[in-house]
Amino acid sequence: MTDPSSREVSEALAARVGAAHVLTDPRDTAPYFTDWTGRAEGRALCVCRPGSVAEVSEVLRYCSGHGIPVFPQGGNTSSVAGGIPGPEGKGVLLSLSRLARVDSVDTDTNCLIAGAGCTLEQVRAAAEAAGRLFPLTLASQGSCQIGGNVSTNEGGTAVLRYGNTRDLVLGLEMVLADGRVWNGLRSLRKDNSGYDMKSLFVGAEGTLGIVTRVALKLFPPTPARAMAFAALPSPAAAVTLLGRLRSEFGQDVDAAELFSGPQLDIIARHVPGVALPFAPLPDWAVMIDIQCARDDPTERLHALLAELLDSGLLLDAVPALGGAQAEAFWKIRHGVSEANRRHGLNFTHDIAVPISAVPEVIARCEDALARHWPEATPHTVAHLGDGNVHFTAIFPPERLEEPGNPARLGGEVAQVVHDIAVALGGSFAAEHGIGQRYRASLRRYKSEIELEMFRSLKAAFDPQDILNPGKLL
Ligand SMILES: Cc1cc2nc3c(=O)[nH]c(=O)nc-3n(C[C@H](O)[C@H](O)[C@H](O)COP(=O)(O)OP(=O)(O)OC[C@H]3O[C@@H](n4cnc5c(N)ncnc54)[C@H](O)[C@@H]3O)c2cc1C
Repeated sequence: MTDPSSREVSEALAARVGAAHVLTDPRDTAPYFTDWTGRAEGRALCVCRPGSVAEVSEVLRYCSGHGIPVFPQGGNTSSVAGGIPGPEGKGVLLSLSRLARVDSVDTDTNCLIAGAGCTLEQVRAAAEAAGRLFPLTLASQGSCQIGGNVSTNEGGTAVLRYGNTRDLVLGLEMVLADGRVWNGLRSLRKDNSGYDMKSLFVGAEGTLGIVTRVALKLFPPTPARAMAFAALPSPAAAVTLLGRLRSEFGQDVDAAELFSGPQLDIIARHVPGVALPFAPLPDWAVMIDIQCARDDPTERLHALLAELLDSGLLLDAVPALGGAQAEAFWKIRHGVSEANRRHGLNFTHDIAVPISAVPEVIARCEDALARHWPEATPHTVAHLGDGNVHFTAIFPPERLEEPGNPARLGGEVAQVVHDIAVALGGSFAAEHGIGQRYRASLRRYKSEIELEMFRSLKAAFDPQDILNPGKLL
């Protein structure tokens, strides 16, 4: 059997999803083939935009029948070039954007069922309209899609309280590599009837199947809220602060986000309308968000901050005076990725260590950067309560001009940072996944037996290797 031509593939897919939903003109396909950082680009025969589960199934049936690779894409906000194809130009980019309907919100079961193409913002708004909370939240929520969040086991800024996306998924509907549809769209809190298949698909980065619908856990809203920014001398002081917050507020600590002073400075320079709470900037700061279902935590938070200021643990503290300032504080946190991108040549890392090791991992990374690349500057933001540190090295732009860069330089820095995290009992990929960017690190740090289990799973679900080849494995 000869491979079908590019035109034959487009025509076959058009017969299944409608000609208007198969894109081949480079002006239409370009946004799908470039990642949001603008640093990675791929190619495919066409972009195919099915409008129903049945159409996704038909597309997969056709592609598997002809051995054609399929690259699933949600909102294309992956930080690891996971949502774009490789450079080969073979295969079909499968956009799930048209599966964008919220099917149901059940406030007795506390379960929401939505199509994979719903944006995270859409899901959150549907929950809110029904008097419930879907707690997953991150800066890209207006663009990223719930199918992408599931496929990357998204973290975000509320993991401390609600867990990762895996903890929020009750069930999934999946289209398998050969086009068969698995309906695992359950809303059960308890189900020990064999292997937990949905957990396998969460975080699989589109390499084991296509997510078409999701059943998600909802929570009661937490309208009583207090926020503050605290200035501290060190990450070690921040870890002590987190311990005190948890003793006082238990699970009501919604977020504790650590910033280095230079990282705050970059946000102020590049995100319009951001007002920083401190001048001059401290070396370190923690943004605290306490949320409760009923009792207003404001007075208790202020009393705790006053005590910690007296004890010398904090250098300064600025409480949010109402909802508008709370929003302004979150604007600072959500400005990080965009600000770093605008600032220039930067390499961000997504490492995790035990919380007690956060000060050590930051110190070691800063020290290694100063020794190996004195021309670079370190910037840190961390989901402190998850031990998840985004350590960013920013280089002068002229390093871009060197042959092979930024990929070569990025790879060298990543190896040094990842070695440090792994040596401290940590992970080199906490929440963004592997994508195309961290495949070398996967091979470097995973044991042979773990890689063997990965390969066995991949072979069982996708024997032809057509689902998102070049990602993860
Ligand atoms: C400004 C900004 C801030 C961010 N902040 C965070 C953060 O705080 N925490 C964090 O973890 N990440 C963060 N990210 C990264 C990104 O938003 C998440 O990884 C998000 O979950 C990706 O969703 P997406 O729909 O854009 O997926 P895409 O980028 O389109 O795809 C991501 C991966 O999922 C696969 N995929 C997508 N949809 C499906 C589907 N329906 N079925 C099967 N596979 C699929 C793709 O093939 C790819 O492997 C941020 C990104 C940006 C731009």
